[in-house]
Amino acid sequence: MFKMDTDEDLMLERRSRYIEQLVQKDPAIHKQFVFDEQELITEEDEARDPLREDEFTPVRGLVHKYPNRALLLLTAQCATYCRFCTRKRIVSHVERGRIRKEEVDQWKSYLTEHTEIRDAIMSGGDPLFVSTELFSYVIDTLAGIDSLKVIRLGTRVPVTDPMLVSDKKLEILKRLPQTLYVGLNFEHPLEITPEVREAVKKLQSIGGILYSQSVFLKDVNDDYDTLYELFTTLFEIGVRPYYIYRCDPVEGISHFRVDLEKEREIMTRLRSSLSGLACPTYVIDTPYGSGKIPVPLKYWDCGVEHYRDFDGTEHDII
Ligand code: SF4
Repeated sequence: MFKMDTDEDLMLERRSRYIEQLVQKDPAIHKQFVFDEQELITEEDEARDPLREDEFTPVRGLVHKYPNRALLLLTAQCATYCRFCTRKRIVSHVERGRIRKEEVDQWKSYLTEHTEIRDAIMSGGDPLFVSTELFSYVIDTLAGIDSLKVIRLGTRVPVTDPMLVSDKKLEILKRLPQTLYVGLNFEHPLEITPEVREAVKKLQSIGGILYSQSVFLKDVNDDYDTLYELFTTLFEIGVRPYYIYRCDPVEGISHFRVDLEKEREIMTRLRSSLSGLACPTYVIDTPYGSGKIPVPLKYWDCGVEHYRDFDGTEHDII
């Protein structure tokens, strides 16, 4: 897809002015965005592309892994780089990650031929970080594909640089005739600042249905109180907590990985104290790309050393 990185690319840092201020305020935010030498350590069973997205890329920038949905990678850039990013291998390089209009036209041909795809997920990098011109071209292209019923915008810009949720981009999004879902990544309650609340309101004002995704991260959010506060506040501002993931086995992020039993303990407590609407599903995104598998909580007596993915293949826990 986008040409592979070097170790130097993987070490690259980028922080918006906005996030720089938050980084100075709290170690949980600092760890998410500031390079650490432990990123140079690769553990056994880790991979650069554990979800095997590169193998499911029929057209540059379009990932088609599940029959009824496709991922569209509009760019390899983000407002701020997260140190635990699953797409570290592609995120950061301006030229190699640039999508051109001709490639968007190729997406259109592919999506028009594959009418089984009803849900297109704009991702990246960060789709709200592309030029207004390209963003507008992509939206108008997707708006014209009748078989697409749902468009999703997966973005962390409202959290990492909320001022980039511009009126121009909101106006463009309003042109979509399809149902619009907006997926936001939140890892810690301190990320929900007045500026972020404002960006959330703007996305809601254009009819976006908002949901959140989070990742268990050691020394960032691996305790009950932090996640209780995060999910409760998201629920209150109209962002439905959707998934919390076990950290993917990506090279160089083992220092973020939390003990599985600790995660299960926290999620079991959260499930009993949060409203169902405020409690996300706790999943493992299967290495090798065969589905998001719910992890059993401690209400059931069952072994959790292995699990089967959507294809029936058995995996060990990493
Ligand atoms: S915003 Fe998303 S794609 Fe960009 S670095 Fe963070 S996790 Fe990766």
